This record gives sequence, structure tokens and C-alpha cells, in this order.
Amino acid sequence: MDKYTEERALKLHPKIRNEVLNIMKECDKALTGRAKVRISQGLRTFAEQDALYAQGRTKKGKKVTNARAGQSIHNYGLAVDIVLIIDGKTASWDIKTDWDNDRQSDWMEVVLIFKKHGWEWGGDWRNFKDMPHFQKTFGNNWKTLINKPKDASGYVIV
Ligand SMILES: [Zn+2]
Repeated sequence: MDKYTEERALKLHPKIRNEVLNIMKECDKALTGRAKVRISQGLRTFAEQDALYAQGRTKKGKKVTNARAGQSIHNYGLAVDIVLIIDGKTASWDIKTDWDNDRQSDWMEVVLIFKKHGWEWGGDWRNFKDMPHFQKTFGNNWKTLINKPKDASGYVIV
């Protein structure tokens, strides 16, 4: 498995950590061609979220998020973003290409594997489609998560 993927998976919420590792293994088996899946983002701390929110507002750059600290599921370690790595070097967000010639786009193969494990896909959202995004919230949203008690490592108890 991709070392970035593994590092990022190990910082996710303990309740989904192993599941994500298993999903990634399943994806590695399913994608037999030029594309491999990588987790590009997993846990994002509140401080990191604030820094991201400031981009394009109080700091230079263009706006990349509308979520403040605590308003993203990533802030709880319950979401991942994926990217495909083509030929071991090029990042791709192409959701249509069938890199392994099995008549199904590799991106959608990954989507189906996450869904099989009960994950919500950002590509299914009506207003803002977030194709790289997957989350498992155990019936929560950021408004319920932000008020939950945390364990000794700082993860919310879900
Ligand atoms: Zn995301």
C-alpha cells in the first residue's frame, strides 16, 4: 500500500482506521492497471482548518473551503479524500477513465467499494459535489460532532 495512504489512514478516527486500511487494500486489488488509489487528506486538525479557511479571506490565495474549524468532517478524522496516482507518479481526479480496462472507471470502482462499506460519497451531494470525498459519520454531522466529548487522544466519542 502507498505509504502516504497508510500514514494518513493511521491518523483517522480509531473507529474507522482499520476499515479504511481494508478498503484501500480492496481498492488495490480492484485497480489492476495504471491507477492506484491514494488518500490525499484524512484528519485535518482545527488549526489546519482555520488556516485553510483564512486562505482567500484574511490570507492570500483563492478560497478553498467554506468550512471553519469544526465544520468539516475531516476535523474529526471521519472523512478521507482520494486521488488516483497514474503510473506511480501523476495525480488524477479523472472520474471517467477506465485505467485497467475492466469496463468500469477506476474512480467509480473505488466509490462502489466505499459505499459497500457504508460510506457516504461527496459525489452524491446535491448542491456541492465533492468527488474525492468520502465520510462515515455514524449518523452525525459537524453540529452534533462539535459538542461530543473526546477521548484521551482527542477523537470524538461516536
Ligand atoms: Zn474531503
